[in-house]
Amino acid sequence: MIGELIKILKITVLTSKNSKEIAKKPWKLNSIRQTVTFASSSSPVTTTTTSVSPPQSQILTTRRSLLSGEITASEIAKSYLSRIRLTESHLKCFLHVSDNVLKYAQEIDQRIAKGEELGPLAGVLIGVKDNICTEGMPSTAGSRILEHYRPPFDATAIKKIKELGGIVVGKTNMDEFGMGSTTEASAFQVTANPWDLNRVPGGSSGGSAAAVAARQCMVSLGSDTGGSVRQPASFCGVVGLKPTYGRVSRFGLMAYASSLDVIGCFGSTVADAGMLLHAISGYDRFDSTSSKQEVPEFQSQFLPMDLFESKPLKGVRVGLIRETLEEGVDSGVRSVTQEAASHLEALGCVLTEVSLPSFSLGLPAYYVIASSESSSNLSRYDGVRYGNQVMADELNKLYECSRGEGFGGEVKMRILMGTYALSAGYYDAYYKRAQQVRTLIRKDFKAALEQNDILISPAAPSAAYKIGEKKDDPLAMYAGDIMTVNVNLAGLPAIVLPCGLVEGGPLGLPVGLQMIGAAFDEEKLLKVGHIFEQTLKGSSFVPPLLPNVA
Ligand code: GLN
Repeated sequence: MIGELIKILKITVLTSKNSKEIAKKPWKLNSIRQTVTFASSSSPVTTTTTSVSPPQSQILTTRRSLLSGEITASEIAKSYLSRIRLTESHLKCFLHVSDNVLKYAQEIDQRIAKGEELGPLAGVLIGVKDNICTEGMPSTAGSRILEHYRPPFDATAIKKIKELGGIVVGKTNMDEFGMGSTTEASAFQVTANPWDLNRVPGGSSGGSAAAVAARQCMVSLGSDTGGSVRQPASFCGVVGLKPTYGRVSRFGLMAYASSLDVIGCFGSTVADAGMLLHAISGYDRFDSTSSKQEVPEFQSQFLPMDLFESKPLKGVRVGLIRETLEEGVDSGVRSVTQEAASHLEALGCVLTEVSLPSFSLGLPAYYVIASSESSSNLSRYDGVRYGNQVMADELNKLYECSRGEGFGGEVKMRILMGTYALSAGYYDAYYKRAQQVRTLIRKDFKAALEQNDILISPAAPSAAYKIGEKKDDPLAMYAGDIMTVNVNLAGLPAIVLPCGLVEGGPLGLPVGLQMIGAAFDEEKLLKVGHIFEQTLKGSSFVPPLLPNVA
């Protein structure tokens, strides 16, 4: 495995003597295809229903209903808990469901009864990826090495959510430490895609995405190191928002690759993902990489449809990234993306094609950097400082057994790859080279975003594939990250929202459109995303498992 990855890296990164040359030798998707097999091409599904009403924000609806007295927070919580009971045995989104959901909902009802002010997230039910620390609640990162761990503190994002009245429903399943694209690398269970139970929900935040898709919670948190919020959002037909690096504190997020990791948000609407992001954003003295940049009031971007002008996105410059529609992308995904681009044009956007010459170098550079950082970050789980201990009669044996039994196969492979890439003889050849590629990618994005307000691409080369299909072929799985990893390398914000369906499963499978913005310009992404979502005709992105849920 390491050999194969290194071979590809050699072809792409090592054979180029300088940065300019690197840019001239893009690692084409079809060259990856020679090594791996993708799911077969599918066709777009044309839906005939045009009367589907636009999706409604769950956060705003909850607030309105609570304030008008139409329903209580306890009734809302009970209905979600009963949906979890009904669907969870099929889906397996949660590793842990909180016992305190009703208690917190009752507290909100008491506040309402006393006429006390409610926080903006009052009564909002939130799923949390299991690598985000929640006080007193299991937080395992999907790993045996942290099985039974209950942190004595909340991550900053969780603290903020609780202060605003949000209720943590439970901890969602994930690929161990965020390493994977399907949730199959969880040490505990495999989550199913609510659109087709035989398919993966994507990953690594697959549990969080599937839980929102199945309406087991209203919104959820995930983490995105190379696409782990955006790709599962695409596979599950929900909105996934990856903020600018530094926008949200990483305090309490278990580190995978620190220079790439961000906490991100899932919702069934752009407004929900945006409001959740607003709640968790801002500088935090516990995270030196968090930014002091002001957090704008995103909510003003979520105008109701009757206030839209006839060309609500007039003059917005949109660049369609050429390299993301080249060979190697499923034909159904390609057509749905092109239709989405036409929809943006119809809304008044000025659409052009842009090229990111370094685009195809992102994938090998990402895997070198992410593995290297993870090999260092995960060294803390030695059974002494962190992680479950396996007893042994001498220290090295204790480390060996604790790590050997605590980590799963994918994590061990990443640690080995990272250690190899960082080792004395190879550091310049791999890690340094990958950092050079990272600089090139940043420059290409900067140039493209000077000419355009946002860039668009598919979120993944295919829709959700079958459980087990790529499990034994890690390179095929890694190749599926090609649309998302560059954005992390450049530290930019991006949103993925459902834009159409392709054939597969009982009702079709969702496809996500990725919109990428300039650093700290989440506001623009949310504005364009919201208008796009509210005006998109023909598809309702509610999975077939839930026929009665709007
Ligand atoms: N699939 C990618 C990986 O395995 C991305 C994961 C992530 O964003 N956490 O590294």
